[in-house]
Amino acid sequence: MAYQIDETVCVGCGACAGNCPVAAINQKGDKYKIDPETCVGCGACEPTCPVSAISKETR
Ligand code: SF4
Ligand code: SF4
Repeated sequence: MAYQIDETVCVGCGACAGNCPVAAINQKGDKYKIDPETCVGCGACEPTCPVSAISKETR
């Protein structure tokens, strides 16, 4: 199950991107986005977000 970033909450700090072991988090404009095809669902990024924008995909 992939993780996702709520772009209405993300402040674009980039803290999460460097903690992803498979480099699934990439900058998109002034926000960051998780590529669901690359994400392995490890959850390492989630606690690194200062505004709790990252959560497990629900679908
Ligand atoms: S859950 Fe793991 S693999 Fe997926 S984006 Fe976060 S750190 Fe990367
Ligand atoms: S750590 Fe959180 S606020 Fe910062 S870029 Fe990642 S998702 Fe956005």
